[in-house]
Amino acid sequence: MRARRSTRWRGAFRARLAQRRRRHRAAHRTTGTTAIVHPHRFTSVMMNAAIVHGAELRDGRVTSTVRDADGTTVKGVEVDGSVIDADAVVIAMGPGSLLAAQWMSLPAIHGERSPSIVYDTGTPVSADALFLEMEIYGKTTPIEVFPRPDGSTYVTACPDTAAFPTDPADVKPEPNLMDWLQQMSERLSPLFRPEKIIAKQACFRPVTDDGLPLIGRVPRDEGLHVASGHGVWGIFSMRLQPAKR
Ligand SMILES: Cc1cc2nc3c(=O)[nH]c(=O)nc-3n(C[C@H](O)[C@H](O)[C@H](O)COP(=O)(O)OP(=O)(O)OC[C@H]3O[C@@H](n4cnc5c(N)ncnc54)[C@H](O)[C@@H]3O)c2cc1C
Repeated sequence: MRARRSTRWRGAFRARLAQRRRRHRAAHRTTGTTAIVHPHRFTSVMMNAAIVHGAELRDGRVTSTVRDADGTTVKGVEVDGSVIDADAVVIAMGPGSLLAAQWMSLPAIHGERSPSIVYDTGTPVSADALFLEMEIYGKTTPIEVFPRPDGSTYVTACPDTAAFPTDPADVKPEPNLMDWLQQMSERLSPLFRPEKIIAKQACFRPVTDDGLPLIGRVPRDEGLHVASGHGVWGIFSMRLQPAKR
């Protein structure tokens, strides 16, 4: 019974995701927008809007959940050695949610790493995103080029699966892949010159086995919820809600 309900729920969720993707594509079919947001600017705007509505931002590292005496209900989180009490806890730690699997039972989440280079290309660049494929080391790899509204262009390729470091500052691209990405970018456009590089970086995204995000209450843990596994489209799909059960 439980499995049938879960399959129905995931089917409905998949349909809503597809519908939202269609709407998203329609909304972006104008020359006035680009296909990618600037992550820092976007998250700053969102956080400031939440603060206006009463949220409080606290810096700190969550190291575990705090439970009641019989261990079934989550009553808060431990942050840098102190406890913050809570009626409900939502684990939304992005790729860091892999670490949260030590505190609760979660389906498998993997960290997908992508190297990227951000170039200062200026504002005359068209808003079109470019999706390519190329063979590297005998394997076909996707290459994506996204101009951004601030005059920068983000080039990424070769996603791989790597161990997620406990400190986000240790997230680094694989050096050989980064060299290849730079050479490939220089072949793509004369705008991608070494002196125009703003950043060489890597990022991790949390992905699940079936590619669907994990959103909802954690079974058998009262007061505990999860929102993770959003992969490459976690921003545009953020308004998705689980279907009514
Ligand atoms: C460069 C780049 C560009 C992207 N562009 C797009 C785009 O244009 N559109 C799109 O839809 N998606 C995009 N994505 C994917 C999107 O960013 C992710 O799907 C989305 O950010 C996932 O959201 P999240 O809240 O689950 O995780 P995150 O955004 O990773 O947020 C998790 C937060 O939890 C914090 N955290 C982690 N561990 C702990 C801990 N132990 N204690 C306290 N805090 C902790 C982290 O510091 C972070 O602030 C992009 C991803 C990258 C890397």
